[in-house]
Amino acid sequence: MNILKVDHIGIAVKNLADSAKLYEMLGIPQAGVEEVAEQKVRVSFFPVGDSEIELLESTSPDGPIAKYIEKNGEGIQHLALRVDNLEAALAELKAKGVRLIDEKPRYGAGGAKIAFVHPKATGGILLELSER
Ligand code: ZN
Repeated sequence: MNILKVDHIGIAVKNLADSAKLYEMLGIPQAGVEEVAEQKVRVSFFPVGDSEIELLESTSPDGPIAKYIEKNGEGIQHLALRVDNLEAALAELKAKGVRLIDEKPRYGAGGAKIAFVHPKATGGILLELSER
């Protein structure tokens, strides 16, 4: 498995427009808004150097981000690492017995292929692997 960098940090927010104001105030340009229907979220990326901050707002009360906020409040929801070959990374983790949420890549914002590793396998961190 070849991890290239920290791709982004995902932050669960109640209101994307309100939360975006902080990053705009810090001088970080917003790189557009995209809705990912499959995950019931609207996301916005803020590029910071070689990585990004991803704000996630739920589009449904039963979506994973709404449930996360209900349980934990707003805040950092996941860490995303970029890999060069997601399918190979998933196969390697599976072979090592690492508990995965996604055994196959799914669609992520910006056309990325993504998959999540279960927090029980990572000491409580929801880990996203991303290939672009
Ligand atoms: Zn993400």
